[in-house]
Amino acid sequence: MSTENLQPTEETLDPNNWNEIRALGHQMIDDMIDYLQGLSNKPVWQQPTAEVKEILNRSLPKEGQPAEEIYQEFLSYILPYNKGNIHPRFFAWVQGNGTPLGMLADMLASGMNPNTTIGDHAAMYVEQQVIEWSKEMFGFPESASGLLVSGATMANLTALTTARNSLQDLQIRVKGTDNKLTVYCSAETHICVIKATEVLGIGSERTRIIPVTDTFQINVPALVTKIKEDIEAGFRPFCVVGNAGTVNTGAIDPLEELYQICQEFGLWFHIDGAFGSLAKLTPSFSEKLKTIEKADSLAFDFHKWLHVPYESACVLIRDKKLHQAAFSSVPNYLSAHERGLAAGPEPLTNYGIELSRSFKALKVWMSLKEHGILKYGRLVQQNINQAEYLGEKVSKAMNLELLVPISMNIVCFRFNDGAHTEEALNQLNKEILMRLHESGIAAPSYTIIHGKYAIRANITNHRTRLEDLDLLVNTIVNIATGLLIKVVEFDTSNLKHYQAFKDINYDWINKYFKVEQGDLDSLENPVKYFIATGGAILLACRGDEILGTTALKPIGDDSLELCKMGVSEAARGLGIGYAIGEAAITKAKESGAKRLYLETNSSLSPALNLYKKLGFSQVKNFTSPYVRADVAMEMYL
Ligand SMILES: *Cc1c(COP(=O)(O)O)cnc(C)c1O
Repeated sequence: MSTENLQPTEETLDPNNWNEIRALGHQMIDDMIDYLQGLSNKPVWQQPTAEVKEILNRSLPKEGQPAEEIYQEFLSYILPYNKGNIHPRFFAWVQGNGTPLGMLADMLASGMNPNTTIGDHAAMYVEQQVIEWSKEMFGFPESASGLLVSGATMANLTALTTARNSLQDLQIRVKGTDNKLTVYCSAETHICVIKATEVLGIGSERTRIIPVTDTFQINVPALVTKIKEDIEAGFRPFCVVGNAGTVNTGAIDPLEELYQICQEFGLWFHIDGAFGSLAKLTPSFSEKLKTIEKADSLAFDFHKWLHVPYESACVLIRDKKLHQAAFSSVPNYLSAHERGLAAGPEPLTNYGIELSRSFKALKVWMSLKEHGILKYGRLVQQNINQAEYLGEKVSKAMNLELLVPISMNIVCFRFNDGAHTEEALNQLNKEILMRLHESGIAAPSYTIIHGKYAIRANITNHRTRLEDLDLLVNTIVNIATGLLIKVVEFDTSNLKHYQAFKDINYDWINKYFKVEQGDLDSLENPVKYFIATGGAILLACRGDEILGTTALKPIGDDSLELCKMGVSEAARGLGIGYAIGEAAITKAKESGAKRLYLETNSSLSPALNLYKKLGFSQVKNFTSPYVRADVAMEMYL
């Protein structure tokens, strides 16, 4: 028996067998790198199953279990039900993707596990360097200070605390808040700013919500009027919060004007630049965001547009003295020494609320070194260009409506075929979004724009490619059409059905090939060819209009042939082929058939793609009575 297996008299959380944990660690890294490499082929999201929810609701473990076993549970019950924000077609909210090196950096930081608060050790200097780099990124002066925090929420809170505590005559740290303080921001400001003012004892009522213009920017004259009214009424305005990229639409407030107003009235100018401030790194927005350099404070995220893994954000404060004055307090158990571990840089508790802090600086530091700031600028620009592309695609698409001009990287739009009330459109678009999420193909989010339910695609994604946006648009149109189309069975007493079946198929055959006698026979005698033989004909209808057809014909061996799949010229590209194809598959299953078969021509590539999407695969060798057929496909039901 090796000593490793002896019952220890003293316990530890370290493994008995270091080689086992080493092997497991290697396996985890391999698995996660495979996972990241293969993302594009996985669903963006899938709903956690009832089993998963049950397992994640079990009570506290009393005894331990082997690490390998726990890892298997992770692979089965946790990893497949990821949120999806790492995926190339995740466009919901404003979230970053992370990177492989960022993931590994998090592992290294957890391995070192320094509490990054006080002391003379490397993590303190890494964080200092990241703050220096952040100041450089945004043109803040040498003399400015900053702190890494969990997210822009904490960054905004830290900045607003500094702004409030900077009112030295009020001695707020000693005496508590004065009930006359007021702060100003636009109606599109992130809710975390309002929460911050509540936490700070200013209250949401004295957080003056200024209306926005048509382009969702703060209404400057209204702001000035409100400040003057408040002064008149004996309030004490102390801060304006400007947005560099609002969460709903990506709008940028007129920052220079806000800065001038703050100068005029002696107010603190804070900018919430959670994601949008990073557009300062691009040629197209560097001028527009230049005023950031003059702000009193800035909140921004590393975990959004710079894709450092969660959580990582930063607050920058122009006046280091005021930053310190807002938070510093050194109890004797934290006092710095001249030498030894308790020496080193100034404790970071002097700049924020949190005491115990992770070494999140490492993943930021490694990421910035790996790619360089220029590449991050190019990637932000790439997303801005992609939003432009998506906006144009939406504007050109039949039945899609752009709801807001694109100001940066957020595209708000909806399906609107002009045939519904506003109320019905809101319901329809919500249903489209939920189905889109359930399909796992793409995940945009939603917002309400002037009372209209909008599908909102936010592109802060280094993995997105133009074809991902094409797929997003096509899938939305397909889902909408599927929702609006009703597939009905051929009614042998309805003359319109005969006419539509003939016209739609005649038109497309005539367009791509030559209509032959055999075609005419079956188009003119649909009952004889399809229905009387035990098959079926399905028609896709929108209201009274018949827009598509397909037929099923028994061909022996429990097989049905799918044929006469046609969509009227005016309704191409709406996903009708998909809707009617799905209906045909359902019908074939109901009839007890074991296999669906079809023949087509390789020149009809949209049709081939459609059949693949429906689940058909190509048959290698086949012989056909049809001259036009050079591809055969089948599907087992
Ligand atoms: C995301 C966001 C926030 C909140 O940031 P967290 O990192 O989620 O805490 C604040 N403001 C804006 C504009 C945002 O987009």
